[in-house]
Amino acid sequence: MNYYSLNNKNQHVSFQEAVIKGLAPDRGLYFPSTITPLSQSFFDGIELLSNEEIAFHVIQQFVGNEISEVELKKILTETLCFDFPCVLIEENVYSLELYHGPTMAFKDVGARFMSRCLAYFNKDKNQKNTVLVATSGDTGGAVASGFLGVKGVEVIILYPSGKVSDIQERQLTTLGQNITALEVDGVFDDCQDMVKKAFLDESLQHKNLTSANSINIARWLPQMFYFFFAYKQLKKHNKPLIVSCPSGNFGNICAGILAKRLGLPIAHFVASTNANDTVPQFLQTGKYEPKPSVATISNAMDVGNPSNFVRIQEMYNNDLKEFEKDFSSYTYTDEETKFAIQNIYANTGYIAEPHGAVGYLGLKNEMHKQQNSIGLFLETAHPIKFLDVVESVLNIQLPIPKQIESVLGIDKIKVKIKSYEDLKNFLG
Ligand SMILES: *Cc1c(COP(=O)(O)O)cnc(C)c1O
Repeated sequence: MNYYSLNNKNQHVSFQEAVIKGLAPDRGLYFPSTITPLSQSFFDGIELLSNEEIAFHVIQQFVGNEISEVELKKILTETLCFDFPCVLIEENVYSLELYHGPTMAFKDVGARFMSRCLAYFNKDKNQKNTVLVATSGDTGGAVASGFLGVKGVEVIILYPSGKVSDIQERQLTTLGQNITALEVDGVFDDCQDMVKKAFLDESLQHKNLTSANSINIARWLPQMFYFFFAYKQLKKHNKPLIVSCPSGNFGNICAGILAKRLGLPIAHFVASTNANDTVPQFLQTGKYEPKPSVATISNAMDVGNPSNFVRIQEMYNNDLKEFEKDFSSYTYTDEETKFAIQNIYANTGYIAEPHGAVGYLGLKNEMHKQQNSIGLFLETAHPIKFLDVVESVLNIQLPIPKQIESVLGIDKIKVKIKSYEDLKNFLG
């Protein structure tokens, strides 16, 4: 399977090279050169397939023959070792709970898949890769856990000081082994900029740097699975399906759109954002104007310049009219988000955390416009990951799940950095 750089369509690389490089040398994101829809019989019989079988059908064309069928199936079994339930919370509205993995964040799937692909590509080599990743919240913990102990891979995680929750910080600072956390004096965009700069820095060539953000195809592509797993559960309704993704870097929703390109019948996508409203603004004005991120209670979506948006534009040939048929985007304040958490709980008993609540709000907005549909919002993290907000807004105490309990008593170990120079000195 080939991938091209979105900055130069004539530059093709293999799946392996795209995974190892992360970002193309010209700074473009990689994109698959062909997208072949899946057969009708696959969709007709999807309820009879296991999650691993569905995932194999979905991902195989994007991996090609670069990983053998047996190995790929093994990677998928290890990646998908937990549930992805669609929970009915009110009439016609489902929450797709993506938080039943080891770090209770949806990014577990992408991180586990990518780490195993890298380990596979490194198995006969003596080389080491350094995964450099910027996190605004949940990526860090999922990457740390997904890559822990993976041979030949050193992981360095940059996170904005004071902008991630205590539990999130613990998840990325307490593992040790091949995982190091760098606490950056700045916001998420500063972390992301440093990471991007390091990738282009000739003097760091010897570190074999790669990314584990959703710019990496091995992080991004497996996110398609969620939409297929949801369809498998909701197909029985036989109604148009609207899916709302709480969006930050737009990797998840971009994977959903790719799933639709494979033939998955999703009628409409909603990108629900917090106050970081670059994309909702774009749909209003037709101008894409990135801006510095602002801090919100749904901090994993505090992104002012969503990296994956260029991939979405590629899939629509930059045609705004076509794009708008499939896609809406709405922005919500922290006040509206807190109010939604309260309302959902009061009316249905369901506990949503801030990202899921933003997704819920966007979904409901779209469902008013498109009656007689089934709505799904992605619940991208367990409420415990945002315990401060959820407990104070609902005035309840959440029980601590065992996945989280295990990091609570351990000391945080991290290195503080201020500038790109500090990062460079640290990498050496
Ligand atoms: C990363 C993340 C998001 C945003 O996903 P994108 O793919 O970056 O749009 C939403 N919610 C949570 C909890 C996350 O960790």
